[in-house]
Amino acid sequence: MKATFPFFGYDTHALRNFVEDLGAEVVLPPKTSKRTMEIGVERSPELICLPFKITLGNFIEALDRGADTVFMAAGARKCRFGYYHFLQELALKRRGKEYRLVPVSQYSPFEFVFRLMPSVFGVSPTRVIWALYMMFERSLLTQQLRQMLNRKRAVDFGGAEKLEKEALRLVKGARNLSDIRRVRRRLKGMTGLNGQRPEVRVGLVGEIYFMIEQYANQEIEKELARLGAEVLFERSLFHHLMHLLHIDRGSYRSRRLAKRYLRECPGGEAMRTVGEAIYFVEKLGVDGIVHIFPFTCMPENIALEGLHRLSEDTGVPVLSLSFDEHTSRTGILTRLEAFVDLVRRRKRSLEAQAS
Ligand code: SF4
Repeated sequence: MKATFPFFGYDTHALRNFVEDLGAEVVLPPKTSKRTMEIGVERSPELICLPFKITLGNFIEALDRGADTVFMAAGARKCRFGYYHFLQELALKRRGKEYRLVPVSQYSPFEFVFRLMPSVFGVSPTRVIWALYMMFERSLLTQQLRQMLNRKRAVDFGGAEKLEKEALRLVKGARNLSDIRRVRRRLKGMTGLNGQRPEVRVGLVGEIYFMIEQYANQEIEKELARLGAEVLFERSLFHHLMHLLHIDRGSYRSRRLAKRYLRECPGGEAMRTVGEAIYFVEKLGVDGIVHIFPFTCMPENIALEGLHRLSEDTGVPVLSLSFDEHTSRTGILTRLEAFVDLVRRRKRSLEAQAS
């Protein structure tokens, strides 16, 4: 089997190792690019959300590199995600090449561990559990890498850029548990801020694919840090895996908090988006919230209303950015610049009033 799956930001290597730990060869798609998006857009329904188009582009590029088995997350979430894999399978079949698409239902951990993975890879459930455990460890490491880079970039952008390559090399090279622990310690040592603190901190919330895949979100964490804002986030592959196993405390907390503005879950990750924003504002004291989501994403458009009410109630600025294949990078950068400027001036004026 030559397996492939969508490119998933820094977490791509955690997914890759998971599949390799189950004994299959991985054929990765090239890093997501303008070409990936164009290929996906060409074969997608016009109004479907951007993650569908980009991941379809990933599959086509990987199949062209020799992959023969495509893994795609599946599962109903009261939104279009529930039928992504059916439509992608149709689009790929039209190309006339031999391949197999395996939908991986996200919401049945028992089925995943005891039936699907053992039957697809011909391995025991024990091996699946071990591979899963290693994926948890690796995705936690990736989350720490992102946090370290976000903190460092906000105070020393150039220094963080130099570090990124080396840090990424260490994370990718961690093959076993003792490697992972060693790299974790190295990452902590690399953060070294020499007592400097970022002037402002913003919380990043939104749809999960956009929270993780840097090409999709136009490297928003990096761009905010370039402007001097440290980005706090909670959505990551690690937390998503915990959530799927029903052991993510953050997910329960977000659902409880979000009820203030959303009486019911409208699907997708709307409850988490609103709940995380409330947590960032009220518990972590961030200076602003940046909300990112694909244009036409119904759940996140509903979450938007909750975020506006949060902003009215607390005075904390919220910037909502929706993305599609036509979104201009210059437009995004201009809006980020204006937003960070606003957040910075508001913070200074609050500090002046308090002193
Ligand atoms: S959450 Fe939004 S972007 Fe994701 S599949 Fe559902 S509608 Fe599309």
